[in-house]
Amino acid sequence: MFFRILNIITLPNMYFRDVIGHDQIIKRLISNVKNQRISHAQLLLGDQGNGTLALALAYARYIQCRNRSGQDACGVCPSCLKFNKYEHPDLHFYFPSAPNKEHKEKAKVSSKLFLNHWRKLLTTNTYFEYLDWLEAIGIENKQAIINAEDCNDIIRILGLKAYESPYKIVVIYMVEKLSYQAAPKLLKILEEPPEGTLFLLISENKDRIINTILSRTQILKVPRPEETALKQVLVEKHSLDPDFAGRIALMSGGVYTEAIKLASGDEDQLADFNSFREWMRLCYKNEAGNILKWVEKTAQSGREKQKSFCQYGLRVFRLCLLHNYKAGDLIKFEGEELDFLKKFSRFIHHNNAIAIVDAFNDAISHIERNANPKILFADLSFKLHMLMHSKKA
Ligand SMILES: [Zn+2]
Repeated sequence: MFFRILNIITLPNMYFRDVIGHDQIIKRLISNVKNQRISHAQLLLGDQGNGTLALALAYARYIQCRNRSGQDACGVCPSCLKFNKYEHPDLHFYFPSAPNKEHKEKAKVSSKLFLNHWRKLLTTNTYFEYLDWLEAIGIENKQAIINAEDCNDIIRILGLKAYESPYKIVVIYMVEKLSYQAAPKLLKILEEPPEGTLFLLISENKDRIINTILSRTQILKVPRPEETALKQVLVEKHSLDPDFAGRIALMSGGVYTEAIKLASGDEDQLADFNSFREWMRLCYKNEAGNILKWVEKTAQSGREKQKSFCQYGLRVFRLCLLHNYKAGDLIKFEGEELDFLKKFSRFIHHNNAIAIVDAFNDAISHIERNANPKILFADLSFKLHMLMHSKKA
């Protein structure tokens, strides 16, 4: 995982002041607490890298803090100290899981079994991606779910008295991974929550959450942080040179996890770059035999890897467009990357950009729905060939 390589991550203990950007959202959350208008179920919606989980953790800490100010939690009260290890007795976590090598294939697993993994990950870094979580519990090639057992546990816990604070906070990470059997159970408790309950649901995709659950939550959209906010964190917390930090912030589109991968020369990122470049060359020339070889190789990686590869592709297209519209400064890039981006951006123009982005977004959503990866990438290669050769005007 990337933070092992870089070893300079300093965003483990989440306070509002550690959240990248989102000043307006934070102001609103603080004012809700002040005015005692905390809605009992809130859905923080946005891509992982936008900081949805980080915001939820800072918010939970703020609510439970015994001595909070108008800006942030105090950091020294007993509640804040327990938050440092994410071991507050009134803070409960649920997240997707699946049996790993230590379990039998059909073993019943639930969040409880992986709570130590979860806390360990959070105390290393609160900005991580879903794939990092799957890797942390050794199931990167599997589909993980939040199951009925998790929801039974929530019901049990909410039936107990709060230990030491007015609120019992239940954080559900990636609530779209709720299983069919689990959803009605969660719905029931969202409909009639015991007093003093606060649900903080984290999701990347609200279209994958059933409507009855959605309608019980207050939705808080968490957009990408501003690139300037990210640049500031890279300079202040990671001591990056301001120019380099600016370039990284731009290329990562404001997404912290991506920025760290780029800054640390992450192997996955490099592999994505090499593989993407090879693929684009093959598609352009329509070398069917080599395309199929490439497809075979790519189809063998796990679904989450395939998804993050497609997301990487989307970022490259975005950069090329910025370059073409003179909005992005590719001069900041170097070497092979610059070479490739310059050449490649010639093939991206207003007549094909939207169709390309749509094709990649469709691919991502089909991967999520368990499409056959060989057919999917072969089909996408063919589409890309056609689109790259479509006329500019
Ligand atoms: Zn405190």
